[in-house]
Amino acid sequence: MTNITSLIKQDRLLHLTKTLVEIPSVTGQEQPLADWICDYLKSLGLDNITRLPVEETGETIVAWLEGAQEVPGMMLLFHLDTFDVCDGWDTDPFKTLLEGNKLFGLGVHDMKGGGACILGAMEAIVQSKIQLGGHLYIVATTDEENWSRGAHEVIKSGLLNRCICGLNPEPTARGEVRIGQRGRHVFHLTLKGKTIQASYDHDDGINAVVDAAKLVTALDGIPCNELGVNEAYNITGNLAVTSIQGGSTMILIPERAHVYLDRHTIPGQTAETEAEFLRAIIEQTDIKSTVQIEWDDRPTPAPTAYLISEDAMIVREVSRQILSELNEPPTYVIGRSVNDASHFTVYGGIPTVLYGPQGGNTCKANEYLEVDSLVPTARIYLNTVLNILGKS
Ligand SMILES: [Zn+2]
Repeated sequence: MTNITSLIKQDRLLHLTKTLVEIPSVTGQEQPLADWICDYLKSLGLDNITRLPVEETGETIVAWLEGAQEVPGMMLLFHLDTFDVCDGWDTDPFKTLLEGNKLFGLGVHDMKGGGACILGAMEAIVQSKIQLGGHLYIVATTDEENWSRGAHEVIKSGLLNRCICGLNPEPTARGEVRIGQRGRHVFHLTLKGKTIQASYDHDDGINAVVDAAKLVTALDGIPCNELGVNEAYNITGNLAVTSIQGGSTMILIPERAHVYLDRHTIPGQTAETEAEFLRAIIEQTDIKSTVQIEWDDRPTPAPTAYLISEDAMIVREVSRQILSELNEPPTYVIGRSVNDASHFTVYGGIPTVLYGPQGGNTCKANEYLEVDSLVPTARIYLNTVLNILGKS
């Protein structure tokens, strides 16, 4: 019997990566790539392919290789969309360029190279004609870089109700498995002061803009270790003031100001606990305006922080494959930010860990993929799937 992992070949993974990169799929414009994915999956003989419409963007695709029995399945998840082209590219971002071990192109590291590893692992299973014990779900989402509306359409569809774990190739360092991720909440503070004519004694009014400036200064001065600390994984919470708005050139003391905060949380923190924290800071700040706190005005629920146990089956299995493929034990980290894996884990109930091929300049000009990381990554996916789902 042929060793199934020998069916994974660098040339094929490279070809798949180039194809994915050269079909532009900036967020909101993913449909041509979604169409290609559907045609490609059909060409491999997959019967179970579902297109899920996603508001304002391309369809998210869910397909599966049928398992022998109705036993729990697992998911290989990747997103189709990329950020838009930024300034500074030395080459055409939608044409791949191979230079030594580096393949340049928009989205090649986040995450078209990882998508190619998923497709390569699936192709090996199809070609080997092996019958898996449980379903292998292939999920290609849209809108990931925006609101993760594609991920939520999948969750709502119920198609993955029998899926017990997932793997997602967001960029990671070699041998580094992301077993959790910080959460993200956007807070909106509305300051209400009292207007008077600007030439009058200011003590008769309350200047909401000046109060907003004081509050922003106080918030910006909070050290990270007061925003939550997870010592085991050496990560803290984070707070960034992203917007301050208010006032005009009218002859008036401004009575309204708005402050927006980007708050990254660690596991255990929620929007509610952090709203309390903000209230305490506001009370300690010398301002007269009243402050209303709201958060997460968005079309999908905000992803809270999560951490999957190192003992969870998906973590143990991926770790075992990393050790065998790279000859070194994996390291575990909590990722700094959020993505579709956060939504599937927190809202879909599918613990999803991250491990992807290596690269650089991610989400910047001249993004590249390290080509020699494709085969080990695809083999790690393939062997993880085979061990979790089993063969019948
Ligand atoms: Zn990504």
